[in-house]
Amino acid sequence: MFSACQVFFFVPTHIASRNTGHEFLGRSAGAGSLSVWTHFLKSFEYLPDYTQTGYADQAAKVGVGLEAWELFPYMERYNTTVVIPSGKSVGAYGGWFAGGGHGVLASLYGLGSDQPLTMQVVTADGRFVTASPEVNEDLYYAIRGGGASEFFFHTTKYTFYCMNT
Ligand SMILES: Cc1cc2nc3c(=O)[nH]c(=O)nc-3n(C[C@H](O)[C@H](O)[C@H](O)COP(=O)(O)OP(=O)(O)OC[C@H]3O[C@@H](n4cnc5c(N)ncnc54)[C@H](O)[C@@H]3O)c2cc1C
Repeated sequence: MFSACQVFFFVPTHIASRNTGHEFLGRSAGAGSLSVWTHFLKSFEYLPDYTQTGYADQAAKVGVGLEAWELFPYMERYNTTVVIPSGKSVGAYGGWFAGGGHGVLASLYGLGSDQPLTMQVVTADGRFVTASPEVNEDLYYAIRGGGASEFFFHTTKYTFYCMNT
């Protein structure tokens, strides 16, 4: 037990993004860090007629907390396909695609890192920006497969490719 006069100050050494906690290296655990837990960012919005430069087709705007298993009901409801991890409890929009993103559909539709159309990102200096091929394109391409936690960013929402089944 601590006495009443013992006061503890927690000074985080860094900020760690934590999604499912699956990462083998433990960087999402972030000992001593201020942890930003994305688990409950579970939104899914189907966009049947999405357009941006170079793309005009269906898409989905997704929250970064969605796990692979949670995407199956949406695929069924909208009769569409999104590329997801084979491991069902792996997050589909956190470290998986940022590290490349292997899945059973990769040989047909590409890796997870091939899927983002736009991203909403909180940068290290606290700005909330959109990253796409048109705006902040350096950030857009860096996040797509550059490696989880290699860049100091925090993603909140993406627009991702959807494929006809
Ligand atoms: C049981 C199991 C099955 C697996 N199956 C597959 C598979 O089928 N295919 C495959 O390619 N890999 C697979 N993996 C590996 C998995 O893709 C990686 O461990 C991946 O990093 C997990 O990402 P996560 O977001 O779920 O986990 P977390 O551990 O929460 O995050 C992983 C990394 O991403 C960072 N991160 C998470 N969310 C964000 C965010 N919003 N913004 C910025 N950074 C963020 C974290 O800081 C951390 O460094 C599997 C792993 C396990 C344990």
